[in-house]
Amino acid sequence: MPDAHVIADDARRSAAPHEPAGHSRPLQVAILGSTGSIGRSTLEVAAASAGRLRPWLLAACRSTETLVQQAKAVQPAWVVVTDEQAAADEVLHDLPADTRLAVGQEALCELVQAPEIDRVVSAIVGAAGLASTWAALEAAKTVALANKETLVMAGPLVMQLAARTGASILPVDSEHSAIMQALRAGGSHEVRRLLLTASGGPFRTLAAEQFASVTPEQALAHPTWSMGPKITIDSATMMNKALELIEARWLFDIPAEQIDVVVHPQSIVHSMVEFVDGSVMAQLSPPDMKLPIQLALDDPQRFDGPARRLDWTAAMQLSFEPPDLQRFPALALGREAAARGGTAGAVLNAANEVAVEHFLSGGIPFTAIPQLTRAMLDEHPYQADPSLDDILAVDAWARREAAAWIERQVSC
Ligand code: NDP
Ligand code: MG
Repeated sequence: MPDAHVIADDARRSAAPHEPAGHSRPLQVAILGSTGSIGRSTLEVAAASAGRLRPWLLAACRSTETLVQQAKAVQPAWVVVTDEQAAADEVLHDLPADTRLAVGQEALCELVQAPEIDRVVSAIVGAAGLASTWAALEAAKTVALANKETLVMAGPLVMQLAARTGASILPVDSEHSAIMQALRAGGSHEVRRLLLTASGGPFRTLAAEQFASVTPEQALAHPTWSMGPKITIDSATMMNKALELIEARWLFDIPAEQIDVVVHPQSIVHSMVEFVDGSVMAQLSPPDMKLPIQLALDDPQRFDGPARRLDWTAAMQLSFEPPDLQRFPALALGREAAARGGTAGAVLNAANEVAVEHFLSGGIPFTAIPQLTRAMLDEHPYQADPSLDDILAVDAWARREAAAWIERQVSC
């Protein structure tokens, strides 16, 4: 087993990205969060890519058994386990002979800059994904970004970093992937607004008075998408759409007032762009993350991949309705954080992460998630133009204060 933190110099950032011209060799992919929902779908896309995509690095936190199974299947050059305790798991002795193991977040941030890597899939959940995404952008990588929290926390800094190093950020989030495709129909000065579609989640039609008694099991039963637990709860509160509004604000450099949310329960239209002449461009496909993942990995090319197709021989109804801001107050929080910028996104994100964790463990009711986030946004020491250190400090502040807020609620 190699030394946990010692990574050969040749695996560090030393050269500009060298994507093979016209796919003369496979694109080598680092999958951060390979054991999660997006990570597993990414491996399916790579397996169906007829050799175009080669997983070169797989990283996870604690799921060592799954990681070893994945490594046996795809023979990556490296696997990274960020949790030091989990890295002692016996099962890691079963890694393929040619796969090396590195341990810890620091090792991940170094390895992700390796010149061998052409594309990085950022699919770690939550604020934990920021450091490795940042490291990849510093090394001018092309990043397929699922970890929206990175842009929610530090959108302007992240976009500036990418512009400075020449890195590219390609959205994996299905809404932003749809918008990226629809934007190609016109010039940026011709865009009137972005229309983010939302399924409405499991409680789209639930009466307001029933929200307080929603259980984690009910909230985890998403009607159209199969995803990891954190984003599934975010979808139930519609905080996910709030995060996506902030993500879109920075990714496409468009003011928050020009981004609207439309509820579309079938999750077939993944988002739309309205141009100044009134023309609306939409992207349609079944709710299957393999399509946006594939696009982000192989853009601007398309290939016949494993994502499900729409069946145009069967009757299909698409419906749209405005969101209910009373029952889903998280939406207004997202709009506010997108308009304020600065440290607002980082506070919203951290407070929400703490709230979701406590809701899932039965510590707070469903309705406390937006209440806690509202309280942290109101109380936090706002900075308009924060550095990355300021963002990390505010993230830590919000986690501490959110835990104290919960403590006070529980003891009341
Ligand atoms: P999952 O919970 O399914 O997976 C999370 C992954 O992150 C796991 O591989 C997990 O490893 C890893 N991870 C967690 N913490 C750490 C850490 N500290 N260091 C390294 N790895 C870590 O999440 P999803 O796949 O659903 O979501 C991932 C991201 O993609 C989120 O930001 C989400 O918002 C975004 N996204 C997801 C969509 C979806 O359809 N699922 C759609 C659009 C965006 P381990 O298994 O070891 O814990
Ligand atoms: Mg989405």
